[in-house]
Amino acid sequence: MRQLKKFYVRTYGCQMNELDSEIMIGQLENRGLTRCNDEYDADLLLFNTCSIRDLAERKVMGKLGLLGRSKKGNVIIGVTGCMANAKKDAIFQKLPHVDFVLGTNNIHDLNNVLDEVISTGKQTIRTDDQFEVELDYLGAKRDDKVKAYVSIIRGCDKFCTYCVVPYTRGQEVSRSPENILEECRLLASQGYKELCLLGQNVNSYGKDKPEWNTLFHDLLYEIDKIPGIERVRFMTSHPVDITKELMEATRDLKTLCEFVHFPLQAGSNRILKKMHRIYTVEDYLEKVRMFREILPTVTLGTDIIVGFPTETDAEYEETYRLLKEIEYSVAFLYAYSPRKGTPAMRWNDDIPEEIKQERLQKLMDLQDGIYAKQRQSFLGNTVEVLVERRCFKDDALLKGRTRCWKNVLFPGNDDLIGSIQQISIHSYTNQTLLGNIVN
Ligand code: SF4
Repeated sequence: MRQLKKFYVRTYGCQMNELDSEIMIGQLENRGLTRCNDEYDADLLLFNTCSIRDLAERKVMGKLGLLGRSKKGNVIIGVTGCMANAKKDAIFQKLPHVDFVLGTNNIHDLNNVLDEVISTGKQTIRTDDQFEVELDYLGAKRDDKVKAYVSIIRGCDKFCTYCVVPYTRGQEVSRSPENILEECRLLASQGYKELCLLGQNVNSYGKDKPEWNTLFHDLLYEIDKIPGIERVRFMTSHPVDITKELMEATRDLKTLCEFVHFPLQAGSNRILKKMHRIYTVEDYLEKVRMFREILPTVTLGTDIIVGFPTETDAEYEETYRLLKEIEYSVAFLYAYSPRKGTPAMRWNDDIPEEIKQERLQKLMDLQDGIYAKQRQSFLGNTVEVLVERRCFKDDALLKGRTRCWKNVLFPGNDDLIGSIQQISIHSYTNQTLLGNIVN
């Protein structure tokens, strides 16, 4: 059988995709292949794709189209990730030079699929709807030496009407606590200091396996006991599943960072209902109030979509008011774009693009003002930073993050990477706090 030598991987989209790429890189390196950074030098090209937004899909299709025109005879091209599940064999029709399509639930099968492509020379597809196996998480090949992603649950059962994830990633399937803890202990022994627990909805952890008697906050208490782990974060959450127990864990656990992604999506009850978010503005605000009462230093992140079908000016203003009132420390703001295969696709996308962009810009301006006020409040204060790496743009500086996810730059030596430092903040730029190490 033909031996492949070098592979190139390009990852689009979310942290779960980054982790899936790390797992596939581990599988390919175990097979004896070497990773390279130049796609023209590789005999296997892997595109781990994202379907969450129209723009993400168009970027991948454009890139793959270009490759088709320059493809060398022997090169194997594979499409993995959410687009593989969403488009399945339609990818072969549009892009006949693609050799295999591997869905998010089949990445454990990468080497078998490669063998099949090499031995038969035929296009091959695996896109199961359900995630069934324990992946070889322990074999994941990570570039980062300080922070690691750890998958704890895959899929989503919430079915928000605008979202493709339940169709591309399937039903929620929790990973066993023993398996997760084994990986966390291994990462701690390898020197990792920060773990980010991943799932489309981490707060649902364990609900699909009541016999384990381990919910999300139980898992956090177990991870907190592992020596060597300094920080734990998680991505992403659904407000409905954010419990009082989780709020208390955020207050009580030394490793758990006080930053929680708490996606609001819209500030109008009618739009929330149409989005099938299964909470009201009042439910949401009550949880924010309770969280801030239990842990006054907690900071919150959000996602917001403007221009959802039928959103009126008045309903948009409700979102604007909530963004202003809650003062998130991180806000990902988007204009709605319909995604094929979702219930919302059936509705008329009736908000004109210029109105969507106008609404989005107004929210961005508001949030920029909130960021500026928050950055100003750091001046003269000392913050705890986990040192992650050297700054890409200025080699004299190190880069780290606060527990609340703020970027901080400061001068220092390489041997500080991986350590916790106290940094006194003297100034800031648009995105970043600047400071010096406190002796
Ligand atoms: S909870 Fe998140 S991942 Fe699940 S359907 Fe809603 S937006 Fe998508």
